[in-house]
Amino acid sequence: MIKPTLIQQFRVEPGTKVNLKQYVTDWTATDNAQELGKDVIKERAREILEENRKELATAQELLYASDTHSVLLIFQAMDAAGKDGTIRHVMSGVNPQGCQVYSFKKPSAEELDHNFLWRYMKALPERGRIGIFNRSYYEDVLVVKVHPEWLGPGQPANPDDKFWEQRYEDINNFEKHLSRNGTLVLKFFLHVSKGEQKRRFLERLNNPDKHWKFSESDMAEREHWKDYQKAFEDALCATSTKRAPWYVIPADRKYVARALVADIATTAIQDLGLEYPKVAAEKLARLEAARAQLENKPNDDKAGA
Ligand code: AMP
Ligand code: MG
Repeated sequence: MIKPTLIQQFRVEPGTKVNLKQYVTDWTATDNAQELGKDVIKERAREILEENRKELATAQELLYASDTHSVLLIFQAMDAAGKDGTIRHVMSGVNPQGCQVYSFKKPSAEELDHNFLWRYMKALPERGRIGIFNRSYYEDVLVVKVHPEWLGPGQPANPDDKFWEQRYEDINNFEKHLSRNGTLVLKFFLHVSKGEQKRRFLERLNNPDKHWKFSESDMAEREHWKDYQKAFEDALCATSTKRAPWYVIPADRKYVARALVADIATTAIQDLGLEYPKVAAEKLARLEAARAQLENKPNDDKAGA
């Protein structure tokens, strides 16, 4: 497990103004980390991911058995920041029946005909499950803040500050509702540098097996880098709450991002203090009777039954 004091530096304290330049993208370049050396960190990060993978599987089983809570993990980031890989690695140990991943793309005409939270509400995890949103309702205050022309019919052509403030308010109220109803909400912004994004785009362009990952719109959006960073800063500041905190995860090193996300998610689920349901005395007696019956009755396989 990673020390809570270390994790704390990645959490956006409610109400604080966010300047993303003050959050590292490459954690291995920090003074603390440099003392350890990159290889040590890489090895340690792998171990942490591995430990957490196992613990997350156990935590999910308990989540399912106790049937009182659900967990929603939200991932947002610039393109190529590693959302897909992080989700794949962190969740790889969890029983597939215990988790569900939704990736949200551009909304359909039908989705645009509803309130902006509608399509996400339909995808929320039921009790006992871990739900993962690969992109989420935060796109509705991010990509469309950079491109208001994509807001869809019935929305203002030039949305003012009040429009966005109301959306943040809707999101906060929505998350309050979720939390009151037993959903643990954790939000991860995978913070990648512009230089690292360029490197990853080039890797995709240079490797035919990765061409499918590159979309021409990725280049166009890169041109809006500053606007996106500003939209993220505004959203993180307005919507990081005690009940649904944002974490700014340094994502230039994939192994660092994965270890941090795994650790934060596992610790938060464990902190729910869930317990296996106690079996009532009557049921225990019935279980005992079933055991005795199975042990005492001869095998009737040979009889062809
Ligand atoms: P990808 O995750 O790379 O497959 O890309 C999905 C695309 O859908 C991204 O360009 C997102 O910005 C876009 N997208 C997701 N949600 C919304 C939304 N609510 N409004 C507009 N575009 C969205
Ligand atoms: Mg993409």
